Amino acid sequence: MARARNIGEVFFIIGGGIAGLMTSIWLRRLLPASAVTLVERSDLCCPWMLRKGLHEPIVGNALSGENLAMAGGDPPPALLDRALAAWPGEATLGWLRELEAQPQLGANGAIQVEGALLQRRLCEAARAVGVDLKENCAVQDVRGQPGGGFRLWSAEEALGEAAAVVFATGGERNHGMALLRESGSSVATPRAGFLRLRPASRRFGQRLEGLSREVRVMLEKTGAASVGRIHCGTRGLEGPVIADLSARSGGELAGWRYRFALQVDWVPEWSAAGLRKAFIEKTEQGGRQPVGEDPLPGFSVRHWNYFLEQARVDPALPWPRTKDRKRNALIERLKRERIPIEGMGLPAGERAWKGGMDPSALHPESGGVREKPGLYCCGEMLDFLYPPGGYQANAVWASAYHTATGIAAEHTA
Ligand SMILES: Cc1cc2nc3c(=O)[nH]c(=O)nc-3n(C[C@H](O)[C@H](O)[C@H](O)COP(=O)(O)OP(=O)(O)OC[C@H]3O[C@@H](n4cnc5c(N)ncnc54)[C@H](O)[C@@H]3O)c2cc1C
Repeated sequence: MARARNIGEVFFIIGGGIAGLMTSIWLRRLLPASAVTLVERSDLCCPWMLRKGLHEPIVGNALSGENLAMAGGDPPPALLDRALAAWPGEATLGWLRELEAQPQLGANGAIQVEGALLQRRLCEAARAVGVDLKENCAVQDVRGQPGGGFRLWSAEEALGEAAAVVFATGGERNHGMALLRESGSSVATPRAGFLRLRPASRRFGQRLEGLSREVRVMLEKTGAASVGRIHCGTRGLEGPVIADLSARSGGELAGWRYRFALQVDWVPEWSAAGLRKAFIEKTEQGGRQPVGEDPLPGFSVRHWNYFLEQARVDPALPWPRTKDRKRNALIERLKRERIPIEGMGLPAGERAWKGGMDPSALHPESGGVREKPGLYCCGEMLDFLYPPGGYQANAVWASAYHTATGIAAEHTA
């Protein structure tokens, strides 16, 4: 007959994303006598990893320690500092290899995987160590009991009792955050950390659809700038450079209700003087090739013609017949195009959230809620935001591992 479990060994984890799965796997590894139940409201854990069209998401960064300044210059919360010291980027890479998720190293240390494979491997690892995965079940209520411990309910049934409950319900507004707020915790309203920006002109997106290159973008109002790759499409501007800018200046962008002017230098590898010289050389070389068929390196003819049109340069003219004034207008367009923005959305690739549970309300050594012993928080439901490129994901893995080790230490003390 099964032994009745001591409540002190029973843990519930709410949320089956990276953070919830990671915490439950490590809890079972560190406390083999424990019973760990993971409750996920979707049909499957980590549902975003199975999204159509999600190719090789970035799920970490192997260059630990480097470039880890908080976006916007805030000091990292002590909890995240400790978590990342215990679980640096190399640990994420090693962990993904251990899971046989076939991690690949992309640009600047970004760790990429096939989403569906990682989803499968994480769930297999959780089941293999004996985590009870309860998918398709949303936790509706968590109540502290007079004698200690907690009881949990879904809308349909009582889910059970636990000595400790870990909230890993993610960075978007969710029921876990609401429950913590109701119980008196400080929870900031979440907002998207990495954005897609919507230009006021639809035509702009149509004309530049498919353009992907290294650019420098700058907020006209503040001068804040980022350099990196941009992807242009009918849905807007996105890619690492937009994610970086929005991570650094997200508060201001939200304050402006996402209506502002963005300045784009489409050719940061060229100075204005260098471009002028190159264009003059083309006019001096003579020839009959139309300007419209002679794009700068990295531009397709279609995209190049957009810039010519904006500068009112006739694409049918050969270089020697172009006027100085028109060539200068073209340089101005390429180096300082002003793009009015009138809205935002979520990028197709790497996503992150700012806002959520205040990390300073948690014990830095465990992620335990200071005012509510027995409740813990980890993952993106905490209020932090690191730059794009896998740093945010690193912090999610690290905070989950940190919480598991913190709980294990408290329960073996
Ligand atoms: C299209 C898309 C692309 C993304 N791309 C990337 C990427 O490239 N890299 C990356 O690191 N991240 C990416 N993310 C972000 C990712 O979803 C997470 O935000 C991040 O991994 C943090 O993990 P988490 O476990 O803290 O939170 P989440 O992954 O958000 O997990 C939280 C889980 O909790 C569950 N939940 C919430 N409330 C309850 C409740 N009351 N009861 C039970 N379950 C509940 C949710 O259903 C969810 O599955 C992407 C997300 C999307 C949607």
